[in-house]
Amino acid sequence: MRIGVFGGTFNPPHIGHRRLAELVKQAVNLDRVLVIPTFIPPHKREQSLAAGEDRLEMCRRNFTEDYFTVSDTEIRREGKSYTFDTLCALKKDYPGDEIYLIIGSDMLLSFHRWYEYRKILSMATLCVISRESTVPCSQLADYARDTLGLLAERGEIILLDTEPLECSSTDIRFDLLCGGSGFPYLCQEVADYIKEKSLYIDAYTPYRQLLRGRLKKKRFLHSLNVADSARELARLYGGDEEKAYFAGLLHDVMKNAEAADQLQIMEKGGIILSQTEKNNPKLWHAMAGAAYLRLEMGVEDEDIINAVRYHTTGRKEMSLLEKIIYIADFISAERDYPDVEVMRHLALGESLEAASLYSLQYTIGSLAPKAQLIHTDSVEYYNELIIERMKGDQTDDRA
Ligand code: ATP
Repeated sequence: MRIGVFGGTFNPPHIGHRRLAELVKQAVNLDRVLVIPTFIPPHKREQSLAAGEDRLEMCRRNFTEDYFTVSDTEIRREGKSYTFDTLCALKKDYPGDEIYLIIGSDMLLSFHRWYEYRKILSMATLCVISRESTVPCSQLADYARDTLGLLAERGEIILLDTEPLECSSTDIRFDLLCGGSGFPYLCQEVADYIKEKSLYIDAYTPYRQLLRGRLKKKRFLHSLNVADSARELARLYGGDEEKAYFAGLLHDVMKNAEAADQLQIMEKGGIILSQTEKNNPKLWHAMAGAAYLRLEMGVEDEDIINAVRYHTTGRKEMSLLEKIIYIADFISAERDYPDVEVMRHLALGESLEAASLYSLQYTIGSLAPKAQLIHTDSVEYYNELIIERMKGDQTDDRA
């Protein structure tokens, strides 16, 4: 018999997995394909790994043809799931049968780092398809020849030259975490199971879903990053991590709204604009965001509302949460302005005040030469920080 062995984290299994296994089954004329979810994947640090039982059940729903057998051998074995150990066990169960190991091109290109990869090659024939259009079959053949010493033309490795289906469990998990359905990459039965078991979501999924609908993609990703940075800062400075994450996530909720809608919700929320604010529409989204949280989302926590309201300008006497959101917005992962590393260093290595002062110098220093308006809240925050610094200097002098 010709047995295909298809291992993976399958977190969750998707149609790319099924397609890979089906193509190899047909091309190599396999009698059976064993689908083996790993317990702990040795080659990657998996975040939000669903329980073994759930992944087994999802595999049963994903791989439904008669020739598939979903095996719990690695899940039962526990610990790191090395393919070498699995093949040794299979050789005993299927003596005399030919074993074909089914993998995607990403796995092939790191194959020389697999535990006992030479022995694996002596036990099984690799069957590979490309996962990305940027990795053509010729590149895989070169790697197989140069690094593993396998020649496709001699049948030492089987490379299937097909159009890649570019999908991954990582992207699907991200989609689910943001309130998506995994469509079109999950089969219905797997999608239903995920929903039934509430897998790959958290308490913030509905808010991410809301933001995804309201913000442009870049702004949406920025919001996710600000939330992460806010949580990190809260952890560092003893703030409330959950509040910080929430406020960071929603700080730009009105950013991509029409000016008329921003003005309308501010009015509804009783926010009266100063002359500087009236003449500076770039500041509206923060105030409108605060009104949106209160009126549309029923947020009652004034600290969260203020953190959103003052995240662009800052203000004097800010709370810890307000400072966190103000700074998180400057240091989020995708930011790449010239001094961002200095800002990150100040925020994470010195203090929120040192980082705030630097950011205000940067903001005020870039607005004034362009003859643009500077909000009095920013000036007041700047002055407050300078006075604090002066006091500190005097104390140092006396010491
Ligand atoms: P993650 O995104 O979490 O890393 P994944 O989508 O790569 O997951 P795995 O369970 O790690 O899925 O993959 C199992 C096997 O399936 C690997 O050999 C991988 O290369 C292959 N594979 C996964 N997705 C595809 C795809 N879209 N096309 C071809 N092969 C794939």
